[in-house]
Amino acid sequence: MTRLLIATNNQGKLREYQQMLADLPYDLTTLRDVGIDDEVEETGTTFVENAQLKARTYAAQSGLLTLADDSGLEVAALDGAPGVYSKRFGNIDGDGERYQFLLDKMAAVPQGQRQANFRCLICIIAPDGREWLCDGRLDGEIAFAPRGNNGFGYDPVLYLHNLGKMVAELSMEEKNRISHRARATECAKAILAEYAKS
Ligand code: IMP
Repeated sequence: MTRLLIATNNQGKLREYQQMLADLPYDLTTLRDVGIDDEVEETGTTFVENAQLKARTYAAQSGLLTLADDSGLEVAALDGAPGVYSKRFGNIDGDGERYQFLLDKMAAVPQGQRQANFRCLICIIAPDGREWLCDGRLDGEIAFAPRGNNGFGYDPVLYLHNLGKMVAELSMEEKNRISHRARATECAKAILAEYAKS
């Protein structure tokens, strides 16, 4: 079976991709499996640039069909921040401290003006150099306090109106049906299914 490198060091993302891509005819391989432990410096200013940067670097290092993504949270009241800087927002280590920093920044923003979305850009690169991009988003609003224990990152503070739940209150299966990463992955799966036939 063809190997597909899921090029992320984020264990939360890795688990989600392993679940979503399990039914594809690929041998899912991690960076750890191929002995790569470098972090690519995310110097891009857009999700597309960073996804390409990661996919190109890891594809060159591994020689494998490679899937990498760049994702983050865009908050309307903060003009789209933290965006590509979601992982480093406030220069804070630790998911809990980071979303608390966001809640503090949003403390004075009233209900009705707290729209936000997760965004995910996937870049796939084949050993012959072909590249594909897929885009997905999940809309919600920033809550006033965290709730839920599932997922990772900002999941405890993004409230989904239609479900009446935080993202962190969804099971992995539920999140993987509707998330920004799931939507981008649907597009990626179509590309990978086609590629497997070639
Ligand atoms: P990346 O590894 O550069 O794509 O960083 C993405 C960052 O955005 C993560 O470290 C999280 O803080 C945030 N993020 C991305 N996807 C999700 C998600 O599904 N839930 C919660 N936070 C996310």
